[in-house]
Amino acid sequence: MTTIEQAREVVHCADAILIGAGAGLSASAGLDYTDQEAFAERFPGMLQYHARCQYQLMGYPFPDEALKWGYLSVALDHVYQAGQTQVYQDLLSLIGERDYFVITSNVDRYFHKNGFNPDRIYTPQGDYERFQCMTPCGDQVWDGRPSVAEMLPHVDRTTQLVTDRSTLPVCPNCGGPVFMNVRGGNWFIEHPYKAEADAINTWLSENQNKTLAILEIGAGFNTPGVIRLPMEAVATQFPKATLIRVSKEHPQGPKGTISIQLPAHDTLSKLVG
Ligand SMILES: [Zn+2]
Repeated sequence: MTTIEQAREVVHCADAILIGAGAGLSASAGLDYTDQEAFAERFPGMLQYHARCQYQLMGYPFPDEALKWGYLSVALDHVYQAGQTQVYQDLLSLIGERDYFVITSNVDRYFHKNGFNPDRIYTPQGDYERFQCMTPCGDQVWDGRPSVAEMLPHVDRTTQLVTDRSTLPVCPNCGGPVFMNVRGGNWFIEHPYKAEADAINTWLSENQNKTLAILEIGAGFNTPGVIRLPMEAVATQFPKATLIRVSKEHPQGPKGTISIQLPAHDTLSKLVG
C-alpha cells in the first residue's frame, strides 16, 4: 500500500479530521513567500533595495511609512483578491461531510475564501484583513482593506513609494504607525482569536476518544510550535489519532506517522482522485 492509499484510508475511516496547515498549503495556492520570480514581477520597485522575495521582508524595519505601505498595500491586495483555489477545494471535498477543525499559521484567510466553516477555523498568528496600532495604545483592531484600496492607486511602481502620504494609515486613537494584526512581536493584539482558541480546545476534548485523522499540510520549522508540535502532541496523546504529515522537506514524524513527501497540491489531488 502506498502512503497516499494509507492516508486516504485513514481519512475515509475517520470520525473527525483535524487539519493543521502551514505556509506550504498557501504556497500551493499561489501565495509563495519565497518565489523570486513572482516577487520581481509584483514589486519591481523593491529590487533596488536588494529585496528578492517576500519572506525576506517579514519583520523588515522599513525606514519610511511610504515605502512600507507601498510594498504592503500591493502584497495585501494580492491576498485580498484571491478567490477559490483548486488545492483548498480538493481539501474541502476530501473532508466531505465529516466533522473537522482547522488550525493554520497562515494569515491569508484562504480557508474562509474557499468555503470552510468560519466557526471551525483557528488562526493563532492573526489576520491580514485586520489592522492594529503598533504601539499598541489600546486593544482596538479594524478592517484594513479600505486603507489598502485607498493607497493602491498612489503606489509608484518604480520607487514602490505611496506618493500621496495623506492616504497612509495611522492609528485612529493615537495617530501612530499601524500594521496588520499578525503575530510579529509583543505588540500583537491577541483577543480577536480567543473565541477560536476556546472553540478548538472544546472540539479537541469532544473528539479525544474518537477515530481522528490529523492532516498536517505544509508546516515546516519556521514556527514549529504553532502547527507541527501541537499536531504531534495530539497524535501521541489521543488513543485513536493518526498523523498524516504532508511536507516537501520535513515529512518525518513520531512513530505511526504517515509521511508524504510531496507538495500540497499533488497530495490533495491524489487523495481525492
Ligand atoms: Zn495607537
